[in-house]
Amino acid sequence: MKTIDKFTFGVGDRFAHQAEAQLRAFQQLADRGIPVTPVWNKSNREHLIVGSEPAGTRAAADAAVSSLGWTSDYLLDADHINLGTVDRYLPHCDFYTIDVADDIGTPAAPEEIAAFIDRHPELIGTIEIEGIAAPLRITREDVEKTARQFLKACELAGRIYRHIAGAKDGEDFIAEVSMDETDDPQTPPEMLVILAAIADQDFPIQTIAPKFTGRFNKGVDYVGDLARFEQEFNDDLAVIAHAIKAYGLPGTLKLSVHSGSDKFSIYGPIRRALSRTGAGLHIKTAGTTWLEELIGLAEAGGEALALARQIYLTALEKKEALCEPYATVIDVDDSKLPGAEEVKEWTSEQYTGALRHDQSNPAYNQHFRQLLHVGFKVAAQLGDTYLDALKANAGVIGKNVTENIYQRHMVPLFLGEEDRPRQ
Ligand SMILES: [Zn+2]
Repeated sequence: MKTIDKFTFGVGDRFAHQAEAQLRAFQQLADRGIPVTPVWNKSNREHLIVGSEPAGTRAAADAAVSSLGWTSDYLLDADHINLGTVDRYLPHCDFYTIDVADDIGTPAAPEEIAAFIDRHPELIGTIEIEGIAAPLRITREDVEKTARQFLKACELAGRIYRHIAGAKDGEDFIAEVSMDETDDPQTPPEMLVILAAIADQDFPIQTIAPKFTGRFNKGVDYVGDLARFEQEFNDDLAVIAHAIKAYGLPGTLKLSVHSGSDKFSIYGPIRRALSRTGAGLHIKTAGTTWLEELIGLAEAGGEALALARQIYLTALEKKEALCEPYATVIDVDDSKLPGAEEVKEWTSEQYTGALRHDQSNPAYNQHFRQLLHVGFKVAAQLGDTYLDALKANAGVIGKNVTENIYQRHMVPLFLGEEDRPRQ
């Protein structure tokens, strides 16, 4: 069984040109004494929108690793796969995000629920969990309700795992189960029932991605009750540690935070929880890199700035279609989007000021940023025009990509506020 490293950090590289710049951030962090394993992830949805293949992500990652002489582990994540989409990833990936969110709520049959409760009488009653002050009180009805809602999803996770393992034929891989793309957050008692159900499926789950309380919009900060998030995150850690012992789950099992990029206000609570408990973490930050490509182009000026402006103008025209697949994970207020006539005249400073995620800059515009976040299809449709611009401006783009991952994400998560750069 392949076990996952304590800290893993997912990066996304929509156009497969930034792997080296991303890896530099991991090198800088390793130089500060914190080993974090890079995981290049790309969902099927992104592959379809960009028109790319998992082989391309693998090739870009391998090339970066060899060019920078990275000798530690790294992983390729088949992000949000299911039985219908996993196969084309199989030759290229060693990390599988098994997405069963669509099966949450598919009701389990009464006899399946009864059998689950017979297997798990320990879930009913007063459960002391180390690290949670008040014991969990779970009634038979609670377990029935949670089982009805989640048993089928957990069963499907087992089926997908076995499908991958069969195809991999003995080759090691990491399995994550994700339930984040759903509306209702899973509570810590639900998490305990879910982990018992996953243990029944008898596969070595390494990370679990719940839906946390609050909004995890793409490319912008967390929106929600910070104190409640911190409580829930800490309780989830305690439940996982408990379930590892109670159900013989892998000792390396850890939480995975999806849409983790740019959630600056929860990095402090996460870091405190990790340093208090010694727990590991997986965090995905895929989309933030593509925006750094735009920032780099805008910063370069001239034709590159004109291209960055053009991408926004097209995104503005096609706003509805671009936002539609991401409707539940963005909040764009049309009235706050800068108009086409205005952006046509923007300087490098105006463009980068609006886009770069620096909340202390009055020019920063989260609506502009979110629209561009989902606007990568526009760049994909530009084909070589866009890719040639990436190549011509690789230096300035790469600098922004590395700085964004290292200073805005890794430093607050792994080193702490005191290390944050002055803006
Ligand atoms: Zn996700």
